[in-house]
Parts: sequence; structure tokens; C-alpha cells
Amino acid sequence: MSAARWVDPVDVHTVAAAAEALFRSTFGGAADGVWAAPGRVNLIGEHVDYAGGLVLPLALPYVTVAAVRMRDDDILHAVSTHTDETWQGLLADVAPGHPAGWAAYVAGVVWALRRSGHLTAGTGFDVAAHSTVPVGSGLSSSAALECAFALAVADLAELPTDDAGRRPLIDASILAENEIAGASTGGMDQSVAMLARPGHALLLDCRDGATRHVPLDFGSAGARLVVIDTNAPHRLVDGRYGNRRAVIEKACADLGIAGLRDVADADAAVAALSSPAAQRARHVLGEIDRVREVADLLDRGRIADIGDALNRSHASLRDDYEVSSVELDAAVDAAVEAGAWGARMTGGGFGGSAIALVPTDRVDTLVADVVRRAHSAGLPVPQFLHAEPSGSAHRLGNSHDTTTRAKSGN
Ligand code: ADP
Ligand code: MG
Repeated sequence: MSAARWVDPVDVHTVAAAAEALFRSTFGGAADGVWAAPGRVNLIGEHVDYAGGLVLPLALPYVTVAAVRMRDDDILHAVSTHTDETWQGLLADVAPGHPAGWAAYVAGVVWALRRSGHLTAGTGFDVAAHSTVPVGSGLSSSAALECAFALAVADLAELPTDDAGRRPLIDASILAENEIAGASTGGMDQSVAMLARPGHALLLDCRDGATRHVPLDFGSAGARLVVIDTNAPHRLVDGRYGNRRAVIEKACADLGIAGLRDVADADAAVAALSSPAAQRARHVLGEIDRVREVADLLDRGRIADIGDALNRSHASLRDDYEVSSVELDAAVDAAVEAGAWGARMTGGGFGGSAIALVPTDRVDTLVADVVRRAHSAGLPVPQFLHAEPSGSAHRLGNSHDTTTRAKSGN
């Protein structure tokens, strides 16, 4: 049996060095700057963002870094350590489906910022990306990539990048993913990548975009939040996520409401719907209540007590929303049996990652048991990450910029 694999966070300057090395070898010379944005994990509030619900994600200590240089033509040239696939093309030609592949997440940001009037034509960008967010594991490497680049574009174009200035960058990143990459995402990933605060989760109201930082100090509770990446990659673009979203939108139309948040009587609304819309709506309505419950407990510092809501969230996603998978169920079941206070799938589902809230002295047991369960079921060996609530997208600091400038002067 393979040993449990922990993916430890890497110092952001080490991550940056990898992006810069790729930048230099591809483009020659130094980047104008280096920007980082975090991956995220959602503590609770799954499949409710597109229903105008509440979500409670936290930024992870794993980041995507973009080394970026402005060009004075209309060309985007994008490379990444993650793939040999590069893209070079005219930004004026960017449209839904073009570019295809990963460059859509980058090109789409410029396309969206131009469309919203925040950016004018006439500037292009050279971009080299490197990520320590596992790609395609439900930890939002896509938003980390969009947001690192969006912040770079904003800084280089001298747009405001305070919290208010970040709102249009969040919108542009969402639009890039929805329209150009063709992935049906809500706004949670981009919001937390841009607005997170260390030691806090971000309570996000997806109806109006309002946010509140909720204190989240696992250490004080003698606990850890462990991410279990099942290594069964999810595929958000393949239609099943879009199907759930469409069912919820149709349910709202049938109920004559704009969003499920507007439901006055949850039981009556569910009773008025037929299957499977009824059970899908029951998940969404119950999950929004569970987010309120968890945020309220965290406000009162009762971290251990949120475990029960995590468990109920998983059962609802598995049974009513039907977005779990054999890998996720095995990980969650093994985690709870090993002494986790609570565990649930997180992210879009159909594979990807789960989280477990576990007393610190049970972490090793949990990891060993989750690996053993996967092994005996013939499933891929999971890997484990640390979900320490971290900060938002940022430009790397002066010491780093000085190094960059010094090198470019050689
Ligand atoms: P997740 O966001 O959960 O990791 P998604 O399917 O939403 O999963 O996004 C993964 C996709 O994002 C990849 O297939 C790739 O196209 C793109 N991507 C993310 N990070 C990078 C990166 N560092 N380099 C190149 N492409 C990336
Ligand atoms: Mg994503």
C-alpha cells in the first residue's frame, strides 16, 4: 500500500521563482511583476451559489502565481508550468470557445475587462503561470489562475485594487470562466480568491455579493481541517454541473420566484415540485440553512459543534443532489469513522475533494484510515492538504520586486 501523501504548502516566493524562470526562458527578460492568488475550499454551502444562496469558503495556503509583462500590441502570449500547451493570439479575436483550452481562463479576463469598459484595447500581455493548487481537484485552480492574472492586469493598467476595486475583477474572472472557457461556475471561487482574510472564512451572499469575514481558528479548537483530494478528477465542463443548475433555474421558474432564496415556506416549495426538482430544491434550501447555522456557531467560537452540519451537508449532496461519488463517499465515511467531528464532499462533486474537521490528535489515524479505505475499494490513493484559512490575491512584495529589477538590469 502506498504511504499517505501530504501536499505541503510552498513558500510563495519559491512558487514565484518557478513562474519567473518560465517567464524568462519563454519571453526573455523580467516580468513587470508577479501576482499570487489562492485556491479555496468551501467549508459549507455547496451547489447554492448559482441559486443565490450563502456560501462559506476559505482561501487555502496554496497559490497560483502569474509573472506578467505588459505589451504595447494586442497580443496575449500565455505559458504555464502545468502544460506544454501555449497560446499566442490577438486579444481582439477572443470569443466563446476561443482560445480553447486553459488559455481561455487568462484571455477571458482581458476580454471581460474590455467588455465592462475597465480596460481599453491596445495593450497585450506575456504571462507565465505556476501553481501549487492541484489542478482539477475541486480546489479552484481555475479561479486562482484568473484572479492572479486579473490582479496583474489591474495593477499594470493602474486600476484600483482595494476591496471595492476588486469587485469588477471578480466579475471579469467569473465571466471569463462562464463565457470564454464555457465552464458553468458561480461566483464563490473568484470572490474568496480576491477577498479572503487569514484566520477567517468568507461568508458570501451570492444574491447581492455582500461579504462578511467569519473568524475561523482551528488551532484554538485543537482541530485541523484536512482536505482529502480523492485524485478522481472532476470535470466541471462536462455538463452535469450545468444540468443541476438548469434544474434549479427551472424550479424557480415553476415556483414563480427569481431565486430559491426567495422561498417563503421551504416545505411547501419542495412539495409543489416533482422529482427530481423537489429533492434538488430540498438540498439547496437545507444547505443555505446549514450555512447560517455554521456561521453562527463560528461567530461564537464553537468550532467542534459545526461537525454535525458538515455531515448533514454531505448526506444531502449524496442523496438529494446526487453529486457525490464512490471516492468521495469512501473518504467521508472513513474520516468520520476515524474520529472526524464532521466531513463532507466539497466543490462541484463527481470526484474532486472532501474535507474533514478532525481533532489534531486524530489526524494521523484519519489519514491512514482514508488511504486504507481507498486502497481496499480499489480507488485511487488520495492526497492530503492543509486547509489553514489564508489571505487573498496579492502582488508579491518589494524584496521580490527588487530582486526582479536587479536581475533585469544585468
Ligand atoms: P479546479 O478549478 O477545481 O481546479 P476546473 O476544472 O475548474 O478545476 O479548472 C481546471 C482547469 O483550469 C484546467 O483544466 C486548466 O484548463 C485550468 N488551469 C488551472 N490552473 C492552471 C495552471 N496553473 N496552468 C494552466 N491551466 C490551469
Ligand atoms: Mg474551477
